[in-house]
Order: sequence, then C-alpha cells, then structure tokens
Amino acid sequence: MKDLHDITHGELLSVLEELGQPKFRAKQVEEWLWERGASSFDDMTNLPKTLRAALAERFTLGGVSQAARQQSADGSRKYLLRLADGASVECVGMPTGQRLAVCASTQAGCGMGCAFCATGASGLTRSLTAAEIYEQVMHVRDDFGTRVTSVVLMGQGEPFANYDATLAALRRLNSPDGLGIGARHLTVSTCGIIPQILRFAKEPEQFTLAVSLHSAVQKTRNLLMPGVKKWSLLNLYDAMGTYVDITGRRPTYEYALIRGVNDTDEELDHLVEFCRGNLAHVNLIQLNEVPGSKFQPSSEARAGEFVRRLGQVGVEATVRQSRGADIDAACGQLRQRVERRSS
Ligand code: SF4
Repeated sequence: MKDLHDITHGELLSVLEELGQPKFRAKQVEEWLWERGASSFDDMTNLPKTLRAALAERFTLGGVSQAARQQSADGSRKYLLRLADGASVECVGMPTGQRLAVCASTQAGCGMGCAFCATGASGLTRSLTAAEIYEQVMHVRDDFGTRVTSVVLMGQGEPFANYDATLAALRRLNSPDGLGIGARHLTVSTCGIIPQILRFAKEPEQFTLAVSLHSAVQKTRNLLMPGVKKWSLLNLYDAMGTYVDITGRRPTYEYALIRGVNDTDEELDHLVEFCRGNLAHVNLIQLNEVPGSKFQPSSEARAGEFVRRLGQVGVEATVRQSRGADIDAACGQLRQRVERRSS
C-alpha cells in the first residue's frame, strides 16, 4: 500500500472525489499529515469515521518510530528512528535559547564511503522518501515540544544522491502548509556532486548550500572522500563559482579538522588559496573522538590558526563546537551501537 504522504495534492483530490467527499477535506487531511503529524487515521478526528476507514483501506501513514534516544549534557538529543520497512536513520535536535536546529538524514546508510564516517563504513541501505525526511523533523519538533527554526540535511546520506526527495522535503519544510521554516534556514550539505550543485543553483528558493570540503589538496580529499573522486577540486572550484554567480548566495565549506591529515601548514595554504577572493564561509568542525577511529581531532590552537589565516584573506571562518560530544553524535554511531546491542 502507498504512504498517503507520497501522493500529490491532485491525487488526493481525486481520491476524495472518488469517495464522494467535498474538496475542503483535502486541506484537513493535509493538515494532519504535514502540520499535526498524525500517526494513525484515527487521530484525524475532524474527518468522518467512514472516510478515515476508507483511507486506511487504501493507504498507510508511513511514519517513523523511535528506536533509541540519547540526551547530551548540552541539551542536544540524538534519535535513532525506525522507518516502516525496518530501515533506520539518525537525526539530532540541537536547542540554543529560543532556537531549535535539526540535523536530518536523507538516506538510510550512505554510499559515499567517507573515511572518517561510521555511516560511510556500512554502505547504503536505501534512499528516503520526502515524507521520511520531513517526518524526522516533525519527530524532533514533537519531542522538544517547540518550533523548529532551522534544518540541515547533514545526517546520514548524500542529499544530492537523492535529489528529488530532498528537494520535495525542503519545499514542504519551507511551505506555510508545512513547518513554515524560511528557505535560508534550510541547508543541504553535499560532498560535492557537481551536476546537482549546478541544478540546485537554479532552484527558485533561497535554500542554503554547504559543501563538505575537508581538504583542498586532491590527494588528501581522495583519501577522505572517495565517493567524489571523479570530480576534481578544480571542477568543484568552477562549479562553486557558477553557483555564486547564479544565486549571489554565500556557500559554506565544511572542514572537519583531523590531526596530521588535513590540518598541516600545506593543507592550510591550499585551503586559503581555494577560498581566496570567493564568497565563502568556512565551518571548521572539531571531530568527536570515535572509538577505534584512526582519525583524531586537531588541537584548539590549530583550529584558531585556520581561522586567523582565512580571516587574513577576507574569508570568515568559525569553529563549530561539536554538539553532543558526550553522546554518539557522529553520524552512524548511534545506529551502530543499537544494532550491535541487538545482534
Ligand atoms: S560523511 Fe556524510 S556523505 Fe560521507 S559517508 Fe558519512 S553520511 Fe555519507
């Protein structure tokens, strides 16, 4: 059976017409789906019982259920959510004052194989539907009981390997009939799939783009991010130039500082050259210590040096404090732990 979230507005109207229902029912059904987050047809109390039963005969409500939750001392909460077919994904809620940021996944697992990532080590299970991406955000909203103010698609998966569902989820998150989050507060983070960066540049909404760079030295980047080896840094540089020309928006480069790998003087020189003269913001991420990982975080002093040197060429850089350092906040860690426990 099809998930009711996965049909278009037009298809819903036809189903309702077939069932002899007035048009305004579509609005009511969509409110339950996208604003109230109904987990059963019985929740839809303003629909006639006969309609609820007829919908339940034809559709499922998909939905995500919580398999595990961890809470960090800094207030972040990390969730392992089970999808209808048993696949699982992780997402994180990060409160700061009145704001609540959510990091959500676009795929169960990931095929990009980044060397420093627990998810990458386990491979791709499948891509998510737009509704499954959206529902992670709803789950976090409901758990915190507060409005979500920003979303970053930076959890498991490569969003641009699941472009259409990612875009549909962003549009729903942005829509006043969805969560009504401003487009600039909706960020897609990609490893750098160039054809999709160019496609994204032409989308009418002002969504934000982040690119995982992690090194501006080809050899190091190939080692860290084998999934994007076929696109050179030069290709990426040109594509980002085109992106900025088309959108006029400033992209973010994500750079996880790894001691002795991409935090050397030579690496810093290349990063400065990559960014010099371009519209860019660099997010320097202090890695979490992952048990058994061969990669260690850089020192704070090294991160400070990166900020200083980038600043000298007019590129703003910030060091992002890793949230939830006391929980399994690196992507893939919680899933690995729960699956180890249950196997
Ligand atoms: S870092 Fe992101 S893109 Fe890379 S393997 Fe992990 S989930 Fe995939």
